Amino acid sequence: MISPDRTVASATSTAASGVQAMGDQSADFQMSQNSVPLRVAVLGSTGSIGKNTLEVIAASDGRFEVHLLCGHRSVDVLVEQAHIYRPRWVVVTDPTAAAAIGSGAFPEGTELVIGPERLEELLAGPEVDRVVSAIVGAAGLRSTWSALAAGKTVALANKETLVTAGPLVTQLAARSGGVIVPVDSEHSAIHQALRSGRRHEVQRVVLTASGGPFRNHSKEQLADVQPKEALKHPTWSMGPKITIDSATMMNKALEIIEARWLFDLQADQLGVVVHPQSIIHSFVEFVDGSVIAQLGPPDMKLPIQYALAYPERYDGPAQRLDFSVAQRLEFSPPDLERFPAVRLGYDVAARGGTAGVVLNAANEEAVQAFLRGVVKFQQIAELCERAVEEHPFIGDPTLEDILRLDVWARKEVQTWMC
Ligand code: NAD
Ligand code: MG
Repeated sequence: MISPDRTVASATSTAASGVQAMGDQSADFQMSQNSVPLRVAVLGSTGSIGKNTLEVIAASDGRFEVHLLCGHRSVDVLVEQAHIYRPRWVVVTDPTAAAAIGSGAFPEGTELVIGPERLEELLAGPEVDRVVSAIVGAAGLRSTWSALAAGKTVALANKETLVTAGPLVTQLAARSGGVIVPVDSEHSAIHQALRSGRRHEVQRVVLTASGGPFRNHSKEQLADVQPKEALKHPTWSMGPKITIDSATMMNKALEIIEARWLFDLQADQLGVVVHPQSIIHSFVEFVDGSVIAQLGPPDMKLPIQYALAYPERYDGPAQRLDFSVAQRLEFSPPDLERFPAVRLGYDVAARGGTAGVVLNAANEEAVQAFLRGVVKFQQIAELCERAVEEHPFIGDPTLEDILRLDVWARKEVQTWMC
């Protein structure tokens, strides 16, 4: 069990009792008094969450400074970011991409570091105070693991970490004193809403979903969806993988599983509602029937700032809701026939064990294949379901089991696509 004050993994815990709420306030006081900037490692800094994080840090009035930037292949972007933010280290995880960087590309005082192993060492070291985990896919697991094992506070955007290894990751944080604060907007909303009641008073949690660009498509129309159309999200601007996940609603499946482990909820305490405006980011219903929601424009800068600064709040760069103009908020249940990924999410959250890692790996492979034009849109969920059904399930896996089944699922899905 993760300690409440420290973990938001245990927003379980954050479902704060009065005592914990007081704890929050004293932590807030301590942080406001701190005049030394917290040194932040931004993993996935060249991506959508990474760039938003840099904007949040730039507008933090000296609360945070960029100490480490990490990207996979976009070395030009990394060089540009290094000249603006002057980090101590820039880590390039792909050695081939790193080899293309000319000498003298980085400013004085910035050191180039190559490969994931070196990244893990730096994250565990004393110079990094906070880690923003925004690498896409299961590739984000190892670095998140290493930061948590060293007792660091991690602002977690990489939902795949919890989908693949949720129980192991939260147990690790409990042992090491590491803290997970969610960046995913729905989980940030849940985290915030949980602060208005106690743990045993939570009835259920309802995640909102925009429904993606094909919310009103028939099954027949979905059969012909092209990558170009699926990459146009109606409300959020995000990286390509999560944008496709939103179109299939696999993103909501991953988020159901993420919430299950992050907040230590039972699968039957989780629900999904389609809310096309993406203004309400999720709901928590308490036993007395009260439903607490968190609202804001669809702008990731707010949940990023919340996760970085928790438990402090300050006036940052996120957009504001404008109540002087008319607003319409709509809700409808998801159609599990047209979007079978959501059903799969409930199923995998209930099964636990290795079901999550297999679902995630199959989905990553299927999404890449869809983007290459190798499989059709509806095959993504079909391939995922088949992988989950056919895999050799382990109820209480080790990290080795998880890594092995990640490889297994990718290979199987590739064979089925040939
Ligand atoms: P993105 O594709 O825009 O960026 C991905 C980043 O990961 C890039 O910096 C890339 O260099 C890095 N990367 C890719 N493969 C890597 C590897 N093998 N090793 C190390 N680094 C690697 O993705 P994004 O939209 O910023 O999403 C990042 C994560 O945040 C995902 O897990 C996503 O589900 C989650 N998330 C994103 C949003 C959003 O609004 N974009 C919202 C909620 C959650
Ligand atoms: Mg989300």
